[in-house]
Amino acid sequence: MLEIKNLHVSVGDRKILKGLTLTVKDGEVAAIMGPNGTGKSTLSYVISGREGYEITEGEVLLDGENILELEPHERAAKGIFLAFQYPVEIPGVATMTFLKAAMNAQRRSRGEEELATPEFMKAVKEASAKLGVSQEMLRRPLNSGFSGGEKKRMDILQMALLQPKFGILDETDSGLDIDALRVVSEGVNSLRNPKRSFLVITHYQRLLDYIKPDTVHVMAKGVIQRSGGPALALELEEHGYREYLAEEAA
Ligand code: ADP
Ligand code: MG
Repeated sequence: MLEIKNLHVSVGDRKILKGLTLTVKDGEVAAIMGPNGTGKSTLSYVISGREGYEITEGEVLLDGENILELEPHERAAKGIFLAFQYPVEIPGVATMTFLKAAMNAQRRSRGEEELATPEFMKAVKEASAKLGVSQEMLRRPLNSGFSGGEKKRMDILQMALLQPKFGILDETDSGLDIDALRVVSEGVNSLRNPKRSFLVITHYQRLLDYIKPDTVHVMAKGVIQRSGGPALALELEEHGYREYLAEEAA
């Protein structure tokens, strides 16, 4: 589904990604683990099309099509979704208006009919109950005054409603207590299917107890250093990232 080939990315004169190569198959849940400052969020932004990043080499293909020239909304229309490490507060934008506009834009781009208000309300009610998003939160402006954990749940609610093809979760576990972690993980797990893939970026192994990945990739110094199965996450938990940063430590 997603193929990243030899991706080099700079911000200003700083090289952040230095030849990153990664493949995620249909239905696969791939975890990326790595130390802080390694370029994990940069990778998630470059896939989803945030501006300000200079791609000096390489490709990102979704179902064989290079998406690097597309605008963020065009990538979203193709089914790419990013749950932010730091979701943004947007005072003045009503959450329900935002959700409805986003959901119907997705549906239009897939050639489906737009949802009328009653159906939309029903979909939101069901999904928000599952994710512990209260009616009171839904009445506030988007993410406005939400706690860190509430923002993360709101991001997963968006994902549940938009039904993307490729979901990227950037440290969704940070700021979540154990109960919220379980609820959010169940939300993600219920979206898993053979035609939908995920890239789960995390710092800690803990999240992967709840969202069981098919593959685990260690990212350090702007590249994937090692790939393996779920056992690799446990090994990292025990030994940390030191061996992957050895050169810098020396
Ligand atoms: P991670 O998510 O793995 O912690 P990031 O992708 O957030 O890492 O950042 C990787 C490196 O790139 C960091 O050293 C960060 O300071 C730097 N960086 C990211 N965005 C910018 C930017 N807009 N301007 C300058 N440096 C940046
Ligand atoms: Mg990050």
